[in-house]
Amino acid sequence: MTVRATARGAERGSLDGTTADVIICGASFAGLAVARELAGCGASVLLVDRYELGERATSACAAPTPWLHALGLGEAIRQEIPHMRFITPHGSVRYRLPWSWSAFDYRHLCQLLYAQSDARFHTAKVQGRANLDQPVEGEGEGIGVVTDRGVLRAPLVVDALGWRRVLGESGYQPPNAPLSRGLEVHPGAHSGDLDVWIERSLVRRGYGWRVPAAGEARVGVASYAPADHVRRPTVELAERLDLEAVGYQGNWFPHRLRPAAESSIFFVGDSAGHCFPLSGEGIRTAFYFGIACGRELTAVLGQRSSRTEALARYAAFSAGHARAFAIAGRLQRLVPALPPRMLTAGLRLLGRQPLIDRSFGWYLDQAHPSFAGAGQSVGRKQSDPRRSSAGGQPPVQANQGA
Ligand SMILES: Cc1cc2nc3c(=O)[nH]c(=O)nc-3n(C[C@H](O)[C@H](O)[C@H](O)COP(=O)(O)OP(=O)(O)OC[C@H]3O[C@@H](n4cnc5c(N)ncnc54)[C@H](O)[C@@H]3O)c2cc1C
Repeated sequence: MTVRATARGAERGSLDGTTADVIICGASFAGLAVARELAGCGASVLLVDRYELGERATSACAAPTPWLHALGLGEAIRQEIPHMRFITPHGSVRYRLPWSWSAFDYRHLCQLLYAQSDARFHTAKVQGRANLDQPVEGEGEGIGVVTDRGVLRAPLVVDALGWRRVLGESGYQPPNAPLSRGLEVHPGAHSGDLDVWIERSLVRRGYGWRVPAAGEARVGVASYAPADHVRRPTVELAERLDLEAVGYQGNWFPHRLRPAAESSIFFVGDSAGHCFPLSGEGIRTAFYFGIACGRELTAVLGQRSSRTEALARYAAFSAGHARAFAIAGRLQRLVPALPPRMLTAGLRLLGRQPLIDRSFGWYLDQAHPSFAGAGQSVGRKQSDPRRSSAGGQPPVQANQGA
């Protein structure tokens, strides 16, 4: 039985009427990246999540190693993974990447990120926005966030609540929303490569994976078709690998960008669709857009920008990445439609080292770790020159010299 750390019932007092300069709803990758970016700016930052920090992982927790180091999260790494292996019904190919993945410990990583912030944290379930029917007009006007512990209020509010986009204007529900679904199990096992299965007999439109994490295998299946169930193929993959299907965890994740600003609220991570189609990789992008959002918020708090300007710039920055997301979206439709032999031949062709370096280099560039500006305090961050044409005004540039 899962033992939860989150306080329940009488242990949870009222938070009604609590105010802050910034409220960040959701304390996972995206929310914690925003909070970290606000460190040292002197503002009161309130983070809320329905669970305790790091209590409930929903992903395989593999991210590009350079990103983890850029954020000072190296301690949370359990295993570095330099190779990927793609397996189809007609063979397998092994790639040495120009950068490596690392599987990390979710709780540890959340704690490390939180320790780098100045935010206060409370558990509370966010239910929606107060007075949704009334537009927020005044710049300094507080936005009410309704939670199961009362209404919280701040002029700057971030929705980092994942695919449900709870503070959005309209609902977002599977199976009709552009969402993929994933499920995985966590048996004990040792292996070395990040294995990816692309087999229609396993999952019609999607892929299976095994992420090694130092004595644990994170074995799962994702389907791009939200109506297709993933439990049976997940169990099948575990059985094929002679592993026990234990320690289930799963979630939905988006495969289409959504507006990153709406009704005076900033949306970051899965709530803004910041998860790459095809790969379903959303941790790095949650960090990346979380940092961009944090920089815009810092500019508002430092009175170098109005909320309206910051919302517009952040939304343009996010939308400026639409091309990369659209390419990945097209590949997500194409790959499952390719005849398996052609797919295998294509993967072999791509397996030449210069092509691997080029394609995976391009992929990393779409949300590059240099954007994190590791080791620099707020206001001294560098912009990534590769990103400066990514769209709109890059927040890092806009905020430099703070
Ligand atoms: C099985 C699976 C495996 C995956 N593996 C990987 C991987 O290895 N690498 C990778 O890059 N991506 C992976 N992904 C995708 C990745 O998990 C997401 O893109 C990523 O978690 C997005 O981060 P986020 O912070 O935006 O949202 P989330 O991680 O979903 O965090 C949302 C937070 O909001 C909180 N919350 C939600 N609703 C409420 C509410 N009403 N009130 C209060 N709090 C609330 C949640 O508790 C949570 O802490 C995987 C996804 C799945 C489903």
